[in-house]
Amino acid sequence: MEEYDLTEAQKKAFGENEAEFRKFDDQLRGVREAARARLTDSGWEPDPGPGDTIPCLSCPCPDFQPGGPQGRCKRPSCRHFLIDHELPE
Ligand SMILES: [Zn+2]
Ligand SMILES: [Zn+2]
Repeated sequence: MEEYDLTEAQKKAFGENEAEFRKFDDQLRGVREAARARLTDSGWEPDPGPGDTIPCLSCPCPDFQPGGPQGRCKRPSCRHFLIDHELPE
């Protein structure tokens, strides 16, 4: 493992950043769970697809297509960010 010569303040800053990103992950997981529940409540049945599909939770896009602008879904009817899509856990 690479060793970096960090000051205490820099270590603290990295540690806090990491914690903030993990907090965001947790929030995102919550948002995604709520999104899933909302779709189920509405009667929406996601297409099970052939296996490793990444359906969008913000539109009926059945699978994320990489290569869109700014990392968005390439499907013209979607164009949502990857985080809108159901990522494998
Ligand atoms: Zn999509
Ligand atoms: Zn979409």
